[in-house]
Amino acid sequence: MLMAAIEKNREGIPKMLEAVFRVYETEFSPILDESLWSEWYKTLLCPNPLMRRKTTEKPVSTKFWNDMDDVERQEKRCGLCGQVGHTRRGCPNQPTDDA
Ligand SMILES: [Zn+2]
Repeated sequence: MLMAAIEKNREGIPKMLEAVFRVYETEFSPILDESLWSEWYKTLLCPNPLMRRKTTEKPVSTKFWNDMDDVERQEKRCGLCGQVGHTRRGCPNQPTDDA
Protein backbone atom coordinates (compact mmCIF):
# COMPACT_ATOMS: atom_id res chain seq x y z
CA MET A 1 0.00 0.00 0.00
CA LEU A 2 2.84 2.37 0.86
CA MET A 3 4.74 1.41 -2.27
CA ALA A 4 1.59 1.97 -4.32
CA ALA A 5 1.30 5.45 -2.90
CA ILE A 6 4.95 6.12 -3.71
CA GLU A 7 4.45 4.93 -7.30
CA LYS A 8 1.39 7.11 -7.67
CA ASN A 9 3.14 10.27 -6.45
CA ARG A 10 6.42 9.49 -8.12
CA GLU A 11 6.30 12.62 -10.27
CA GLY A 12 6.01 14.82 -7.21
CA ILE A 13 8.88 13.30 -5.25
CA PRO A 14 12.05 15.40 -5.39
CA LYS A 15 15.07 13.94 -7.13
CA MET A 16 16.91 13.38 -3.86
CA LEU A 17 14.15 11.17 -2.47
CA GLU A 18 14.06 9.22 -5.71
CA ALA A 19 17.72 8.43 -5.27
CA VAL A 20 16.91 7.08 -1.82
CA PHE A 21 14.19 4.83 -3.19
CA ARG A 22 16.55 3.57 -5.90
CA VAL A 23 18.70 2.04 -3.14
CA TYR A 24 16.00 -0.54 -2.52
CA GLU A 25 15.92 -1.61 -6.17
CA THR A 26 18.99 -3.68 -5.41
CA GLU A 27 18.32 -6.98 -3.70
CA PHE A 28 20.20 -7.57 -0.47
CA SER A 29 21.33 -11.16 0.01
CA PRO A 30 21.80 -12.26 3.62
CA ILE A 31 25.05 -13.95 4.64
CA LEU A 32 23.92 -17.50 5.39
CA ASP A 33 27.10 -18.89 6.94
CA GLU A 34 27.32 -17.47 10.43
CA SER A 35 31.10 -18.09 10.53
CA LEU A 36 31.48 -15.40 7.86
CA TRP A 37 29.80 -12.82 10.06
CA SER A 38 32.05 -10.16 11.48
CA GLU A 39 32.68 -10.42 15.19
CA TRP A 40 30.33 -8.51 17.44
CA TYR A 41 31.95 -6.60 20.26
CA LYS A 42 28.68 -5.97 22.04
CA THR A 43 27.18 -2.54 22.43
CA LEU A 44 29.88 -0.20 23.67
CA LEU A 45 28.51 2.61 25.81
CA CYS A 46 30.54 5.80 25.97
CA PRO A 47 28.87 7.98 28.62
CA ASN A 48 29.59 11.67 28.59
CA PRO A 49 30.97 12.51 32.08
CA LEU A 50 29.54 16.02 31.77
CA MET A 51 26.02 14.58 31.50
CA ARG A 52 26.45 12.80 34.81
CA ARG A 53 24.40 14.22 37.62
CA LYS A 54 26.26 14.18 40.91
CA THR A 55 24.17 13.48 43.97
CA THR A 56 26.13 15.74 46.31
CA GLU A 57 27.09 18.62 44.04
CA LYS A 58 25.21 20.86 41.66
CA PRO A 59 24.83 19.44 38.15
CA VAL A 60 27.69 20.45 35.88
CA SER A 61 26.60 23.25 33.61
CA THR A 62 27.46 22.83 29.94
CA LYS A 63 26.17 26.30 29.10
CA PHE A 64 28.55 28.71 27.44
CA TRP A 65 28.02 32.21 28.74
CA ASN A 66 28.26 35.00 26.20
CA ASP A 67 27.65 38.75 26.17
CA MET A 68 23.91 38.26 25.84
CA ASP A 69 23.79 36.23 29.04
CA ASP A 70 25.82 38.94 30.79
CA VAL A 71 23.11 41.47 30.02
CA GLU A 72 20.49 39.06 31.31
CA ARG A 73 22.35 38.66 34.58
CA GLN A 74 22.81 42.40 35.08
CA GLU A 75 19.16 43.15 34.49
CA LYS A 76 17.73 40.97 37.22
CA ARG A 77 14.55 42.60 38.35
CA CYS A 78 12.82 42.23 41.68
CA GLY A 79 9.44 40.51 41.63
CA LEU A 80 8.25 42.38 44.71
CA CYS A 81 9.16 46.04 44.25
CA GLY A 82 10.11 45.95 40.56
CA GLN A 83 13.52 47.54 41.09
CA VAL A 84 16.50 46.44 38.99
CA GLY A 85 19.60 45.03 40.67
CA HIS A 86 18.20 42.50 43.08
CA THR A 87 15.73 39.67 43.13
CA ARG A 88 12.69 38.96 45.28
CA ARG A 89 14.88 36.97 47.66
CA GLY A 90 17.29 39.85 48.26
CA CYS A 91 14.70 42.60 48.31
CA PRO A 92 15.29 45.28 50.96
CA ASN A 93 11.67 46.41 50.64
CA GLN A 94 10.24 43.08 51.73
CA PRO A 95 6.94 43.40 53.57
CA THR A 96 7.16 42.23 57.15
CA ASP A 97 4.87 39.50 58.49
CA ASP A 98 3.94 41.33 61.70
CA ALA A 99 1.56 43.70 59.98
ZN1 LIG B 1 12.85 44.52 45.61
